Amino acid sequence: MKLTVWTYEGPPHVGAMRVATGMRDLHYVLHAPQGDTYADLLFTMIERRDHRPPVTYTTFQARDLGADTANLFKTAAQDAYDRFKPQAIIVGASCTAELIQDDPGGMAETMGLPVPTIPLELPSYQRKENFGADETFFQIVKALAKPMERTKQITANLIGPTALGFRHRDDIQEVTALLSDMGISVNVVAPMTSSPADIARMGAAHFNVLMYPETAESAARWMERELDQPYTKTVPIGVGATRDFIAEVAAISGNEAYLDTSRLRLPWYSKSVDSTYLTGKRVFLFGDGTHVLAAARIAQDEMGFEVVGMGCYNREMARPVRAKAKEMGLTATITDDYLEVERVIEALQPEMILGTQMERHIGKRLGIPCAVISAPVHVQDFPARYSPQMGIEGANVIFDTWVHPLVMGLEEHLLHMFREDFEFHDAAGPSHHGGHARKPEDGGGPAPQPAASPRSLSGKMNEGSVIWLADAEKELKKIPFFVRGKARRNTELFATERGVAEISVDTLYEAKAHYAR
Ligand code: SF4
Repeated sequence: MKLTVWTYEGPPHVGAMRVATGMRDLHYVLHAPQGDTYADLLFTMIERRDHRPPVTYTTFQARDLGADTANLFKTAAQDAYDRFKPQAIIVGASCTAELIQDDPGGMAETMGLPVPTIPLELPSYQRKENFGADETFFQIVKALAKPMERTKQITANLIGPTALGFRHRDDIQEVTALLSDMGISVNVVAPMTSSPADIARMGAAHFNVLMYPETAESAARWMERELDQPYTKTVPIGVGATRDFIAEVAAISGNEAYLDTSRLRLPWYSKSVDSTYLTGKRVFLFGDGTHVLAAARIAQDEMGFEVVGMGCYNREMARPVRAKAKEMGLTATITDDYLEVERVIEALQPEMILGTQMERHIGKRLGIPCAVISAPVHVQDFPARYSPQMGIEGANVIFDTWVHPLVMGLEEHLLHMFREDFEFHDAAGPSHHGGHARKPEDGGGPAPQPAASPRSLSGKMNEGSVIWLADAEKELKKIPFFVRGKARRNTELFATERGVAEISVDTLYEAKAHYAR
C-alpha cells in the first residue's frame, strides 16, 4: 500500500481509452465496476470532445458479483457490436475486474464476432496509463498491420498521438508540415485520427515518425522488425531538436534536408537584448521523460537558463532522463510521488519550474513561477488556439510560454532597486502573481513560509541550530527576493557544516564566496 493524494498517471485502462478515443471505428469493451465511467469526463470535459468515448463498460455492481459477471461481459460486448458496428474491438479489464478474473479476451474470442477482437492484458497494479496506451497501440498494430508494397512517393506514418495527449492535436499539424516541406507525405497518423482499416495499411509507409516514445515505442519497434520500417529517434521539440530531426529524416528517406525557418522567432527572441536577464535563471524540470528531455536542451542551449534539477514520473523513461541529467552534472529525480518532487524543489529553490499541473500547485504554494511542459494537464492546456510544442511554431510557443510567468526585466530591476516603494516593495510580490498573491515573507525569498528560524535541510540541520544576527538579516534583504531563499539556505548550510551557531554579515559573504567558487 502507498498513501497517495495525487497521481501523475491514471490506471492503464485509461491509456487504452486514450488510444480508442483517438481512433475512429474502433470500440473498447471494458469490464469494469459501476462508476468507472468517470473516465469519460477526461475526454468530454478536459479535451472537450463532442462525442462520448467509444467505450462500453460492463458496470457490474456488488449484487452482480454473486451471479454471472462473465455473462454480463458477453452481453455488453454483443450489444456494443450491434449498436456501433465497429471495424475492430478491443477488450480488457479495469483494476477491479482484473481481480475477479473473468478473462474478457478469452470470452470475446469464443463469441465469434465478425470483426477482429483484440484482447488487452493490462496489469493495473504494476503499470500505469502510458504503459496502457503503448501496449494497446502495440496490440492493435500487431493484430492489424501487415507487410505490403511501399507507396510510390516517399511517405511516413506519424505514430504516438492519442486522445488526451499534451498538444498532440497541433503537433500532428506541425510535423506534417515539416515533412511536407521535404517532399514527404503522411501515410497514416495513429492512433489519433486512424481507423482499424488505416492501421492495416501502415505497412505501405517507408518509415515511421515516433512522435511520443511513451505511447508508441513498442509499436515502432515491432514495425521496424516485422515491416522493415525504420523509425525516427529524435523528437522535434525545440530548434536544435527540430534540426536534428530533419537531418535524421533526410538520412532515412534520402530526401534533401530542408527546414523553412521563415516563421522561426525563438532564436532571435532569446538573443535579443531584452532576454539578457533570462541568462542563468535557475530552472527545475519535471514531467514525462520525452518532454523533460526536450525541455532540458531548450532551457540550456536555446534560452540560456541554468537547469538546476530535472526528473520524470514515468519510469519507462528513467534511463535516458538519468543519462541526460548526468551529462548536465545533475542527479535525476525519478519518482511518481509529488511530495518528493516538492521536497526537491524546496531544497533547490529554483527561480522557475517547468512541469505538469502538479508542479503548478507546488509552484503556487512555494511562490515560484511555473510553466506547463507536460501532461498531466488541466483543461486550459487543451487550448482553442494553435499551440504545438513541436517544430518551428512549437519553438515560438515555447518561448512565449516559458517567459510569461517570469518577472519581466524592468520589474525585476525595480523590485531590487526600490525596495521601499509603495508598489515595488518586497511584500508586494511580482505583478503577474496578482493582487492576492501570497507575499514572499521578509527574508525567505520565493518560499512563502515563516522564515524566522532556520529550517531543516536534507536532515543536516536541526531546527534552531543557527540564528541570524540582525545585521546579517538586514544584509540578506538586499538580495532580490526571488534568489533570497536560495541565499538563505546556502548560508545556513554553510554555517551548519562549519559548526557556526550565529550568522553574521561576514558569514553571509563567506558563504557567498564559497558557493561562487
Ligand atoms: S476499477 Fe480502478 S479505475 Fe475503476 S474505480 Fe476501481 S481503482 Fe479506480
